[in-house]
Parts: sequence; C-alpha cells; structure tokens
Amino acid sequence: MPEEPCQCPDCLRFYKEHDRLVRECPTLRQQQELNWAALQSFRTLAGKVLEEFQKQNGVKSNESIYEVSSVNSTEDDLQEALTDLENINAHLFSIEVLMEKIFDVRVPEVVEEKFRELAGELAPDPLNPDRLRLNRLLHQTPDLPDKS
Ligand SMILES: [Zn+2]
Repeated sequence: MPEEPCQCPDCLRFYKEHDRLVRECPTLRQQQELNWAALQSFRTLAGKVLEEFQKQNGVKSNESIYEVSSVNSTEDDLQEALTDLENINAHLFSIEVLMEKIFDVRVPEVVEEKFRELAGELAPDPLNPDRLRLNRLLHQTPDLPDKS
C-alpha cells in the first residue's frame, strides 16, 4: 500500500508552494534564476541583520541591545541567536559556491521544452476545473491522517 503524504498544515503549505514554483518557473533557466535570487535574498537579509547586531554589540551598550530585541529576550538568548545566524550565513555561502556550478549550465530549447512539459504534469494549474473537482473529493475523504 502506498504511503499517504502527510496532510499537516505545514506540509500542505509546502506542497502548494512547491507546485506553484514548478508551475511558475517551468524551465531550467527559470529555476536557475529563481533559486539564485532566493539564495541571494536570504544571504543579503540574514547578513545585514547579523551585521546590525554585531555593530550594536561592538558599542557594548546593553540598553541598545534590549531596545531592539523582544521583551523577554535575555542577552544569552541573543548571543545564541547570533551564533546560529553566523552558522546560517556560513552555510549559505557554501551553498552559493556549489550552486554556481549548477547555474553555469545552459541547455538547448528541446530540453527546456521537456522541462515545460513535465512541469505541467507535475504541477497542473490548481484553478483547472478537473483539479478543483479532485481537490473537493479529497477534502471529503473521511479518513485523512491529520483530520482533527
Ligand atoms: Zn506534515
């Protein structure tokens, strides 16, 4: 018996987002651009936040740290978070180095055409009438694993 995919809200949101990205970026080129932009925006934002906090720590005024952190945050929590953030940034940098190799590749139009074809099969338009009908049927199924 094939295992049912998890139906918890997090997974459902993930499936939806996954399908949207396949549908809206159905070529190798578009996937390359999308993922590169996603990685860079993540790096830019996380790096900037870290930089701002490090600047404040450099000044070493506890008051200013507490000002910007949430009310319950202690200095230890903040330190731990900044260490986590440093690790994230280091990982993002490593990923970027690996991704560069993937993103140098260009493929002929016949391959891009196959990408488009399979994207349409993997993630059909959710507003397509057949798909809507199927979704309604699925939601009426009484024994979904996460039903509460
Ligand atoms: Zn789940």
